[in-house]
Amino acid sequence: MRAADIADDLTTVLATEEDILAKLEDIAAQVARDYEGKDLVLVGVLKGAVMVMADFSRALPTLVPMDWMAVSSYGTGTRSSGVVQIRKDLDTDIHDKHVLIVEDIIDSGLTLSWLLENFAARGAASVEVFALFRKPEAAKVQVDCRYVGFDIPNEFVVGYGLDYAERYRNLRDVAVLAPHIYS
Ligand code: IMP
Ligand code: MG
Repeated sequence: MRAADIADDLTTVLATEEDILAKLEDIAAQVARDYEGKDLVLVGVLKGAVMVMADFSRALPTLVPMDWMAVSSYGTGTRSSGVVQIRKDLDTDIHDKHVLIVEDIIDSGLTLSWLLENFAARGAASVEVFALFRKPEAAKVQVDCRYVGFDIPNEFVVGYGLDYAERYRNLRDVAVLAPHIYS
């Protein structure tokens, strides 16, 4: 589904599917260079990062394992609750592995700063972050994000894996959700 199919639910389109795929190619090329010869594992954060992981991992020129975590920090609303809860843990041991966390979006940064500490405690050789989108609030928390796709305004966005109450994940583009949908 494209943004034009649900134009009434959206205000501004921030990144089209084409923009996103082009950006993923760039970042995959950087990651391939930076991790050459290293034991890399991609860790996706469910469910929002599913689309990013699918397209990003396939843009890489090398074989790479992926694992998944499910955490919750939002519930069904549009504000971070500040409480991070593990709903599904990793299946693999990341000890001595170079971990790249693949995230859809960093908002408050609470989820990521928590994940970074958690993975470091498991003895990962290194832990870095790739976030496809980043909001300005993220700058307020100490989150070192090595790869960022797009810096976006502080608005609630949907699409390309990002949801509002589990809807809009299958929208191909990323757009600002119209306020009448959630207010
Ligand atoms: P943080 O802990 O505030 O950085 O939020 C992290 C998670 O909240 C992200 O991985 C998303 O799942 C969700 N989130 C944050 N901002 C948005 C948004 O604008 N739209 C949809 N989900 C969001
Ligand atoms: Mg997420």
